[in-house]
Amino acid sequence: MNVQGLQKLTLLDYPGKVACTVFLAGCNFRCPFCHNASLVTRIDPKNDIPEQDVLKFLKKRRGMLDGVCITGGEPLLAPGLETFIREIRAMGYLVKLDTNGSSSARLESLVEKGLVDYVAMDIKNSPAKYAQTIGLGEYDLENVKKSIKCLMEGQIPYEFRTTVVREFHKREDFEEIGRWLCGAENYYLQGFVDSGDLIRPGLRGYTREIMEQALEIVKKYVPNAQLRGIE
Ligand code: SF4
Repeated sequence: MNVQGLQKLTLLDYPGKVACTVFLAGCNFRCPFCHNASLVTRIDPKNDIPEQDVLKFLKKRRGMLDGVCITGGEPLLAPGLETFIREIRAMGYLVKLDTNGSSSARLESLVEKGLVDYVAMDIKNSPAKYAQTIGLGEYDLENVKKSIKCLMEGQIPYEFRTTVVREFHKREDFEEIGRWLCGAENYYLQGFVDSGDLIRPGLRGYTREIMEQALEIVKKYVPNAQLRGIE
């Protein structure tokens, strides 16, 4: 596994839990607004963290942290992920997985085996604008659709989330996404913030007022939808 980051404490990444976050490098998408370009297009082997060091850290923190968030990049692409998760779980940790939903078979396998406790899946945009929004010329949405179905029909807690970027998301997209996710448990519209580590610099978020309008649209389909990270 290509671990390239360890945030030793987070009260935000895992809803309701005290956790740490492990960052895995590598992704098959190229979202221009990606806030971790150093894990996607500018991977530097010098930043590798030995997996054993992460496991040692987790052994020491047993009893102090509830869970481990595994994020990226796209964690489901990482060879050895299942073994890593098994080792974490054997220490008593809950596991939250962040994913772009493109590896539905791997997601389904982890969910079926009961190896993840919470999944946060990105919904990048309305289906018609997906390829453009993930920075690819074209993209077959089949796996993303399967991942959505797996979570909506499964038993584990999950959330869908969309990072809203002025250059990519328009009013009609929220209508489309809402219809697509109709009946979902939890859905968050996240404000875009320039991390300074973007794949394509120069993008902008919307004002709170516009985000609230977008929320009203998606709430028609996902009544539990909320805003996140809006100033
Ligand atoms: S935002 Fe997520 S899915 Fe998109 S390029 Fe970055 S890590 Fe990959």
